[in-house]
Amino acid sequence: MDILDPEKIIVIDDEQNLREGAKRILSRMDFTVFLAPTGDAGLEIIEKEPVGIVLLDMKMPGMPGMEVLKSIMAMERGIIVIVITGYATIETAIEAMKIGAYDFIPKPYEPDQLRIIVSRARDSIKLKQKADRLAEKQKRTLADLHTEKSRISTIINSLPNGVLVTDTKGIVVLINPTFYQQLDIDSAIGIGKSIDQYIEDKDLINLVMDISRGKYIDYNDIPSHELNINNEKFFLTKCRPILGERHECLGTVMNIVDISTIKALDNLKSEFMAKVSHELRSPLSTIHEQLAMVVKSMSNEMAEDDQYMLARAKEKTLGLISTVGDLLDLSRIEAEMSVKELVPIQIDDLLKNIVDFLRTRAETKKQTISLTIPDSPLPAMEADLTTMESVFGNLITNAINYTQEGGEIKVSADMAGNNIRVKVADNGFGIESKHMDKIFKRFYRVKNDKTRFITGTGLGLPIVKGIIDSIGGYIDVKSEVNKGTTFTVLLPLKKPAVSSAPV
Ligand code: ATP
Ligand code: MG
Repeated sequence: MDILDPEKIIVIDDEQNLREGAKRILSRMDFTVFLAPTGDAGLEIIEKEPVGIVLLDMKMPGMPGMEVLKSIMAMERGIIVIVITGYATIETAIEAMKIGAYDFIPKPYEPDQLRIIVSRARDSIKLKQKADRLAEKQKRTLADLHTEKSRISTIINSLPNGVLVTDTKGIVVLINPTFYQQLDIDSAIGIGKSIDQYIEDKDLINLVMDISRGKYIDYNDIPSHELNINNEKFFLTKCRPILGERHECLGTVMNIVDISTIKALDNLKSEFMAKVSHELRSPLSTIHEQLAMVVKSMSNEMAEDDQYMLARAKEKTLGLISTVGDLLDLSRIEAEMSVKELVPIQIDDLLKNIVDFLRTRAETKKQTISLTIPDSPLPAMEADLTTMESVFGNLITNAINYTQEGGEIKVSADMAGNNIRVKVADNGFGIESKHMDKIFKRFYRVKNDKTRFITGTGLGLPIVKGIIDSIGGYIDVKSEVNKGTTFTVLLPLKKPAVSSAPV
């Protein structure tokens, strides 16, 4: 029995009138009152009932009060014992208090005296029980917190992705086992050192430092980063600031995912594409030439329908050859082997040639095409001629293709800092914003009423972007539906030493 009931009281006294008197007073105070004429009888009741308070006469025949008190104290139930003593036995009272009695009442006592002491004892039990409950509750919350903490750390330690956390100064405060294992870091290094002791990639270190210092407010602005370990392992790293309650930055959390297999597959895919396109190109060209010869030599002997069919076949093979050529270009760019022959190029001259070449095509659509270049020649840039032709050929062809009859194409070139800036602008169909980030993806074409009948494969812009990225340049597009589109290209005069563009 471990619960004390502050409302249950026992009066142990050999004098019956005193027992009855006390019972009357206490019952009116809403106590449940037990009575016992001897110590033994009292202890028996206490064994069975959760009495909170004992009124104990010290001078009784049989077991003396002091012994009863000792037995109650030995139970360690927190029972409150108020001893009743005669005038002459003040020493007894003191001794009883030493053993653990709560208070004493000298005999004979006034009802009020009893009421005050007993009600104080009752309050004291209630207060203690309240405090015990609070302490218990607090103990539980602390225990919960502890299990919650260990649960989270168990989860972090079992994650299949590497996780690293730094504080605002870039000091590493947490690393999970996968991180050590993925980056081949000796786990003996532990935590507490600066981030550059764990990672070599300067760009990634700078990114973590910038985030830790609170540079990024918008998560969407934080670039992902591709971590390359000796060209053998590749990881996609994503970082986020850790924000406190008042939105202050507390550090950075970095998550790394092993993308080596995806990379290897991607390479295989590019190789496969290069091989297939290469294998297809020459037989296709042969078919095309032979068709051309047949059309030429037999045109007089053939029915008009047959002639039409052959002409269509010839046209289609030409389309195929061009697609295969694009695929080949793209796979070369992806394999980073496109830039082969670097020669000084006058971009203004190159643009003049392309514009002149494509003018006939624009004129068949009754479009005007103009080129604006500075009076003095632009500085020459080191680049591969074919790939540069491919960039502007694609952009200007697109402008012509995706602009209505009678439209206007404006090509211009000038200097912007250390870059040559080329703009290809049209007042054509425009591109809806939902397509904007996709048009640079392979085979992506916008399909609507205006573009449905325009042939193409959706490889032009990926080729353009691939080439520009490979020389550390920049391409941007602005467009408004039915108003037109402007592509702006920045070509650096000098290729930067490191061109590891964030993914
Ligand atoms: P090709 O591989 O023959 O170039 P394509 O022109 O369709 O085919 P991209 O050059 O990659 O492929 O262009 C992708 C899409 O972007 C186009 O299908 C077109 O919808 C849109 N686009 C490109 N340039 C413009 C432009 N100047 N105006 C409007 N839409 C454009
Ligand atoms: Mg195109």
